[in-house]
Amino acid sequence: MGRTPDHVACVLSAFAGWRQLFDRGGTRFGDNVVRFYERARDADLYVAYGIVPLQIDRSQPAHRQPQPFLYPGVAAERDGGIVVRGAQGITTAAVLADWLFISYITPLVPGDEDYALSFVTPVNAPGLRVYPRRPYAQGTTSVFDYPLSSRFDEVDATIVFDDVFVPWEQVFVYKNVDLVNAQFHESPSHTLANFQSLVRFTVKLEFMAGLALKLLEVHAADGKPEAQASLGGDIAALCATFDALVQAAERNPLIREGVARPHPQYVYAGMSLQRRLIVDMLRAIRELAGGAFQQLPSSEAGFSSPETRADLEKFMRGATADARARVKLLKLVWDFVGTEFGGRQLQYEMFYSAAQPVVNTRMFRSYDWQHAKAVVDRCLGEYE
Ligand SMILES: Cc1cc2nc3c(=O)[nH]c(=O)nc-3n(C[C@H](O)[C@H](O)[C@H](O)COP(=O)(O)OP(=O)(O)OC[C@H]3O[C@@H](n4cnc5c(N)ncnc54)[C@H](O)[C@@H]3O)c2cc1C
Repeated sequence: MGRTPDHVACVLSAFAGWRQLFDRGGTRFGDNVVRFYERARDADLYVAYGIVPLQIDRSQPAHRQPQPFLYPGVAAERDGGIVVRGAQGITTAAVLADWLFISYITPLVPGDEDYALSFVTPVNAPGLRVYPRRPYAQGTTSVFDYPLSSRFDEVDATIVFDDVFVPWEQVFVYKNVDLVNAQFHESPSHTLANFQSLVRFTVKLEFMAGLALKLLEVHAADGKPEAQASLGGDIAALCATFDALVQAAERNPLIREGVARPHPQYVYAGMSLQRRLIVDMLRAIRELAGGAFQQLPSSEAGFSSPETRADLEKFMRGATADARARVKLLKLVWDFVGTEFGGRQLQYEMFYSAAQPVVNTRMFRSYDWQHAKAVVDRCLGEYE
């Protein structure tokens, strides 16, 4: 899975640890942030978030889209709260979540004040509609045939706000472009949430490494030097690199105003590399597999039919596993790299945060360029 409940929990924890930002709009907003954080923590709420608008007209800011309220904004103020109208882009796991956090991470500009919001809302608020993409589990035949698609689809969704009432206590930022733009990066929220993503990705890499090794072992191909070179160079080197990034981010925190955040330099290095290298990793596993996935029986049912069972048990075996164990493993690997679930996972790793240039710019801002320049200046100063 990608967007487990701990991701937005990191956002809320970081907001509560940096309430001074929300206080700048009035201390009642800082109070709202801390109160909701405590509620989510105590009630163990699953909060999903939508912070990127739909791709309607990328050349125009929120207030100059082809129609008003294509992006979520304030349609009216009422006694006790505000009325939100519009739609928000991908909100993964909204169908599983208890609450949503809605705001913008894409920069807003002067004139966007009616859209400059941060708020939380229960998913079942009147007027809130959830449009999920097609769930992958529906197309599966069994857990054995699709072990991941059938159990771990976190279902991305688009959210429509048809005049949803949001009480003031659920509003964190109100009509304030500067605060919406500052909330993720001035607070530790972006680094903490993406540190969760980095840890998650590192665990996923270890799982991929295990799949690759077992894929070779089942055909007794793991002793071949070229197979070991592929496992080492394409897979193990990346696993070790990401493990090191997690440890470096954790052991060298950046401490500001008494709050420690995982060091952004290592978090953003991971984000910049992972969205490119995941493609190489998946290709490496496909290289090791050859046509293995396409030779599998269409369903687990083949092992119970008297007509087919004997053939499958005889011909689907591996060097080190009986037919059922081999087919089980290969179906797991295919669900990881090749099914619609696998394809969505790849898209997730590439875009769960942002496009490559955006991620790279964050890395640019986090790196210690002054130190790098000083090394060169010292070298230049040593000779005429
Ligand atoms: C599976 C999945 C799950 C996600 N889950 C969530 C979620 O739960 N909550 C959430 O808030 N977000 C989520 N996201 C992320 C988010 O919705 C966006 O997909 C992400 O921020 C990238 O923005 P975009 O899709 O608008 O792509 P874009 O930013 O439009 O990028 C698409 C392409 O256009 C290029 N491009 C963009 N702008 C320009 C420009 N000005 N000039 C030239 N080229 C440009 C980019 O380089 C890229 O190649 C998810 C994304 C995916 C794929």
